[in-house]
Amino acid sequence: MAKKQFKSESKRLLDLMINSIYTHKEIFLRELISNASDAIDKLCFISLTDDKVGLSREDFKIKITADKDSRTLTIEDNGIGMDKDDLDKNLGTIASSGSYRFKQEMEKTDDVDIIGQFGVGFYSAFMVADKVEVYTKKYGSDTAYVWSSTGADGYTVKETDKDSVGSIVKLHIKDDGENENYSEFLEQYRISELIKKYSDYIRYPILMDMTRSKVKEETKDSDKPEYETVTETETLNSMVPIWQRPKKDVTDEEYEKFYHDKFMTFDKPAKIITTSVEGVVTYKALLYIPSKTPFDFYTKDYKKGLQLYSSGVLIMDNCEELLPDYFRFVKGVVDSQDFSLNISREVLQHDHQLKTVANTLEKKIKNELTSLLKKDRETYESFFGEFGRQLKYGIVSDYGMHKDNLKDLLMFYSSNGEKLTTLSEYVDRMKEEQKYIYFATGENTQTISKLPQAEMVLSKGYEVLYCTQDIDEFTLQTLQSYNDKQFKSVDSDDLGIENDEPETDNESTDTTLKFVRDALGDKVNEVIASKKLVSHPVCMTAKGGISFEMEKYFNTMQPEAGMKAERCLELNMNHPAVKKMTELIGTDDDKAKTYAQIFYNQALLIAGLPIEDPSGYADMVSSIM
Ligand code: ADP
Repeated sequence: MAKKQFKSESKRLLDLMINSIYTHKEIFLRELISNASDAIDKLCFISLTDDKVGLSREDFKIKITADKDSRTLTIEDNGIGMDKDDLDKNLGTIASSGSYRFKQEMEKTDDVDIIGQFGVGFYSAFMVADKVEVYTKKYGSDTAYVWSSTGADGYTVKETDKDSVGSIVKLHIKDDGENENYSEFLEQYRISELIKKYSDYIRYPILMDMTRSKVKEETKDSDKPEYETVTETETLNSMVPIWQRPKKDVTDEEYEKFYHDKFMTFDKPAKIITTSVEGVVTYKALLYIPSKTPFDFYTKDYKKGLQLYSSGVLIMDNCEELLPDYFRFVKGVVDSQDFSLNISREVLQHDHQLKTVANTLEKKIKNELTSLLKKDRETYESFFGEFGRQLKYGIVSDYGMHKDNLKDLLMFYSSNGEKLTTLSEYVDRMKEEQKYIYFATGENTQTISKLPQAEMVLSKGYEVLYCTQDIDEFTLQTLQSYNDKQFKSVDSDDLGIENDEPETDNESTDTTLKFVRDALGDKVNEVIASKKLVSHPVCMTAKGGISFEMEKYFNTMQPEAGMKAERCLELNMNHPAVKKMTELIGTDDDKAKTYAQIFYNQALLIAGLPIEDPSGYADMVSSIM
């Protein structure tokens, strides 16, 4: 019988499949099962109005059979089937636009890794089989046919015997090569694994005979139980995805089990979000906010994204476009019939519908976090402890364009107490005359709470936010203000506070300041009479927008850049020790210089900055003592 040739573009696709060295060959099974499911959909639809079909909804199924002896794998369905014309049209030419697009992409890039992102269709069978036969009988037709092909040299179509309507796709699995294992596709465990992975939510049962070793019933209770090999037909897919089931029918344990199984997590989610949207794009989503940072979260191995399904069939494992970076910790699935199996990653990236879904999901996540903060503070605080840094990154990224969206999710430690506070709570506690939201930076809450320069602000009864993470200060700088209240570092000159300390003698102050400046040379940029200090003699503040914490941060990141904050030594002119130095100027300048050096070193120590000569400093202190 004469062989028919494939249409030229099909031939090229076929070549790609036959010669594919692609590591994800396994997706052929997903493709063939999806085809079977589509074929069943069609007949199932007809059966609603046509009694002659003789099948009801629960009669439809897909059967998988693996035979190691003949090295064949068959996928059988009782769907609509194909007649001679269909076989020519559907299996002789590229039928779907998805496969066609795939071929075009491949010719452009030769990047085989994109295969998995496409509905590559029927021809993907040739990645694992050197011969494919399709036995099929169309609903309403009397004749059955067998389509057969070994690939490149074309295909034949012959009449055959087949009683029931539907198709059997029979793959003759390739022999194993040096580096290639095809036999795995004949192993029952491997097949069932693939079905779980890709086709778990196909709406019809996928059946396979599973052979297992079981304890013999009659020896169950004896000391020496005997085993027997039993073969039973099992349904391998769970059919109804958990996110498609009504929320009231699913227990928290089931949701959690799914979270653990699907995403290989171990923590109890801080929040489980279910959502069902009907509109421009119709979709269901099941999202999880973890309570623990995944071990690889801050490495490049961590993959952000949600799983994207199209009517129960997995089309993308990590669809990054569905989540903004600052919510990259969210795990979950989105299922929408509005995305076709045939969509490629490249096309998805610019897909309007995907953007719509991403936007509504983002709002949903934000709202859920807000409500968690309101209703379950403890859980939110521990969530924030794990992922707060990510939200802060969100604020400083993209030139601060997300700041309004995220600012109410932020929390900081403050002088108000042990607990974290939100910005809105801070503002609520502000005193009537208080102009600014004050913040101070330092290594930890302990050291910040003791910073001399915070003293004045604190003595007025004003609260100070403690910036303990390197990102905190950037975050506040990006925000600039909250509810029209500007953020102000306690280092600033202008703290917006009327200083009610007694006036100091201006002339002697000027002399003292000049003396200290001369004594310290270029170690400091400025020496000033402080308006902030109350009980402490000195402090070092940073001028010009770069704080000491930023200096430390940048110097660990990029030591060679030698970033340095401007150092301003502030003296408390009313402090007895400073007064003593003032007295010494002109009478014992050497001793006054030692005072200046000691003050300088003390200020460095308090600011958490290294002192240049610790033993020299110790000697100076001893000499005065
Ligand atoms: P796609 O499924 O993306 O349309 P395929 O190359 O996978 O492309 O399949 C081509 C066509 O062959 C399908 O559209 C369908 O019409 C037909 N087909 C494939 N498998 C079956 C099957 N098991 N039963 C009936 N028709 C099938």
